[in-house]
Amino acid sequence: MRTLISATWIVGHENGRHRLIRDGVVVYEGNTIVHVGKSFEGQVDKTIDAKGKLVAPGFIDTHVHTGHRATHRLITDTGRPMYYGQPFLEISVPKEGAVVKGDPRYLKHGDAGSEAAFALNATFTVAELLRAGVTTFVEFGSQLRVQDSLLAEVKRLGTRAYLAPGYDCGRWVGDDKGRLKRVRNNQLGLDGLTTALDWIEKNDGALGGRVRGILVPREVETSSVELLRRTREAADANKLPMATHAAYSVLEFHDVVAEHMMTPIELLDDLGMLRPTMNIGHGNFIADNPNLNYSKARDLELMGQAGVSISHCPINIIRRARVLDNWKCYQEAGINISIGSDTYPRDMIMNMRIASYMGKVMGHTYFAATAGEVFEAATLGGAISVGRDDLGRLAPGALADIVIIDLSGGNTLRYGPVRDPVRGVVECGIGDDVETVIVDGNICMENRVIPGVDFRALRDQAQIAGEAIWATLPEWDPLERTAEEACPYCYPDIG
Ligand SMILES: [Zn+2]
Repeated sequence: MRTLISATWIVGHENGRHRLIRDGVVVYEGNTIVHVGKSFEGQVDKTIDAKGKLVAPGFIDTHVHTGHRATHRLITDTGRPMYYGQPFLEISVPKEGAVVKGDPRYLKHGDAGSEAAFALNATFTVAELLRAGVTTFVEFGSQLRVQDSLLAEVKRLGTRAYLAPGYDCGRWVGDDKGRLKRVRNNQLGLDGLTTALDWIEKNDGALGGRVRGILVPREVETSSVELLRRTREAADANKLPMATHAAYSVLEFHDVVAEHMMTPIELLDDLGMLRPTMNIGHGNFIADNPNLNYSKARDLELMGQAGVSISHCPINIIRRARVLDNWKCYQEAGINISIGSDTYPRDMIMNMRIASYMGKVMGHTYFAATAGEVFEAATLGGAISVGRDDLGRLAPGALADIVIIDLSGGNTLRYGPVRDPVRGVVECGIGDDVETVIVDGNICMENRVIPGVDFRALRDQAQIAGEAIWATLPEWDPLERTAEEACPYCYPDIG
């Protein structure tokens, strides 16, 4: 079947760059785009009218941690300074002998209530991403059962994903004073790699190619050198992309330097892991970052020479008083910048806006991190990070992953007069402005409705799950704090 979308604005693609087409058409047949231009003379079976709208490539979110992120709601405007703003140390480190309650990413298969929690986790994630125009997402290393439930939802809702269980050589617990304590188990990491490769062998290319595998040793400092080396060997042998958290935390940077006498980036370089299909999340605490006071910094140069990718998650880092320093330097070094949500809200448009504004401030120039550049990062940058030249662009031969964005802002005045639609979206848009989402040639969301997804029911279920998680904090928090002690309401006397 051949479908034609006629639109007031189209982000097309030619000679490796996006280009704007006014009053044009996009034509796709099956799952492939066959024509992008001012008009089309051939026969079509169906026409979609996108007058007053922007037709663009679907967004690629390169840093997704699944779930409704209830625990993340406990760390806005608060937290323990000892973690230098690193979120997961605040909300994912239980006291010794306890487990983080209620977050399905930490449940084991068979735990009471786990099936419902896994299902909610997966549905909420995939639906939230789809709602905001994400057509491909990269899951950043959740455990096996989470990947299985995501796979089921990706199948049901029709999106595209890079999945596979992540692995590490042990994580942290909090001791009786609340101090971080590393738990190491090198065999656990190697077993995890085997599990990941088994999962990938079974599922890579599933759902007509919509699901692909990715190797995710979760963090560079929780992985042994042997685990990282074997990951690189497996990536080479099976032509798989990789992702890991590296140069993302002040503590991690110091830990890696102390243990390996190399920076996290130098370690990855030493192991031959730096390449475009290595997605470094977040890569902002590199040796070149002046806040780290590291002499003879060469991380930026190493990353740029390799054309490595970073998943830049602007909302996540800026909410914790951290920043990418800076967009322009990374770009000029040759680093491929992609954009990820990481936390809530999973809104690629808001993330693009913050990336642009942060990039201007940190680069000390309003010529930096332009709307066009952040839009490229959210589309082409993501495609490069997983080694794809058939995603992130609207061009003949590319896959038909398309979003239609309503430039009326849902009948509001938010956009005002639109001269440049990409600037309009980056400056004035929100994810909810995405009206229709097409993945692999199939309409997965039409006029803001995703068949089989009840937003109200999902919100209610997530609220109940969130309340339960917040109530159990004293059971596993190393300091046994209540949610109110950890994160007081912004104004007192709520009772
Ligand atoms: Zn992350």
